Amino acid sequence: MPPLYGPFCANFPDEKVTMTPTLEDCRALDAQDPLRALRQQFHLPDGVIYLDGNSLGVLPKTTAARVAQTVTGEWGQGLIRSWNSAGWVDLPQRLGNKIAQLIGAAPGEVVATDSTSVNLYKVLSAALHIAATDAQQRKVLVSERSNFPTDLYIAQALCQERGLQLVLVEPEGIAAALTPDVAVLMLTHVNYRTGAMHDMAGVTATAHAAGILTVWDLAHSAGAVPVDLNAAQADFAVGCGYKYFNGGPGAPAFVWVNAQHTDRFWQPLAGWWGHAAPFAFTPDYRPAPGITRYLCGTQPILSLVALECGLDTVLAAQPLGGMAALRQKSLALTDLFIELVQTRCAGHGLGLATPREHASRGSQVCITRETGAYAIVQALTARGVIGDFRAGDGDAGKHPDILRFGFTPLYIGFEDVWRAVEHLKQVLESAEWQKPEFNQKNAVT
Ligand SMILES: *Cc1c(COP(=O)(O)O)cnc(C)c1O
Repeated sequence: MPPLYGPFCANFPDEKVTMTPTLEDCRALDAQDPLRALRQQFHLPDGVIYLDGNSLGVLPKTTAARVAQTVTGEWGQGLIRSWNSAGWVDLPQRLGNKIAQLIGAAPGEVVATDSTSVNLYKVLSAALHIAATDAQQRKVLVSERSNFPTDLYIAQALCQERGLQLVLVEPEGIAAALTPDVAVLMLTHVNYRTGAMHDMAGVTATAHAAGILTVWDLAHSAGAVPVDLNAAQADFAVGCGYKYFNGGPGAPAFVWVNAQHTDRFWQPLAGWWGHAAPFAFTPDYRPAPGITRYLCGTQPILSLVALECGLDTVLAAQPLGGMAALRQKSLALTDLFIELVQTRCAGHGLGLATPREHASRGSQVCITRETGAYAIVQALTARGVIGDFRAGDGDAGKHPDILRFGFTPLYIGFEDVWRAVEHLKQVLESAEWQKPEFNQKNAVT
């Protein structure tokens, strides 16, 4: 494939590239960008360069009217009839089918529902149950020490409940940890702190060869990088609706189960929405066939319609090459950001926590700095460049403080990248970040 995004990005990190892109180069890349028009789908506030779509995606232009119509028309006028007439009852499956197209799943294999944390509880329970049925001596759940904490908390709770052991390892220690006593390997595909991406197919194959089931969290990959769950023969997956899917704050998450496992077990949050005949009102639980059994209770319809608007913004890229095209642009954006930070912000003690190799990189770039990372992010935010800060865990060698920048190719352009780095440079050169107001911690970082 010819390089779509110009000589700088296409060749990076080839050391022979000596030219540093200029603002004009970046504008030229935007002008040639075949995905540029997708940006028109969003409300992007003036004066803001938003590099936090990996934490909370931006507002699609269609969302407000769609939610308003659901409130005033479907709820206000249709009332309870809207469960049928407006299709509320099928939203988890209908949205699930849209998500399926973006993660290599088949129709009927995904539902949009609940939060990532809750869905993780369901799939981990199912995976542990199936593993225990197949091989009772397997008493260990393996994950990564730098996995997102909620994933680890849910895993800890389940291990306590079932008398299992949770073993946490560094990424390079995963293969060695897959011993015969391991039941399940639970990983986040793209690490939230570093942006490092696992080889899903490779890791899954290694786990399967050792008789171990895999649970993947796609919070930082769904809508960000191409994912092919069925090709990878993964076992279970969950993911997030409010990050790259632009579903809005607290949007419903999703859950996928490999078809060979779906009907083997029903998950423990066995509410009536996962029942085979919820409106038969029988006293006994009988799970619905297929992925519907992963639903629990009544669904948040307003949130689901907002999520559908977000999903449609990602699906709008399908005729333009879909996730593969988005990925190409995402890599060009992150290559450019890395290149510009290295050349324009040299000498300010910045390090790179994100892998340079494309195959190991998600859609974010994480910068380290021994001191001041939080305050630098605050100073950038005051200038309208919004990224975020993720605290280290005291082991600065392995898990340092991080300045995190997410690049959503649907709405971020090359000029945005150039300007963001220019602001970073100015914040560092002027020592603006040392001002007291940038050094007070907020509740949400
Ligand atoms: C964002 C994220 C979550 C969020 O979980 P919620 O239940 O939505 O709060 C979970 N896991 C990972 C890996 C994440 O990045």
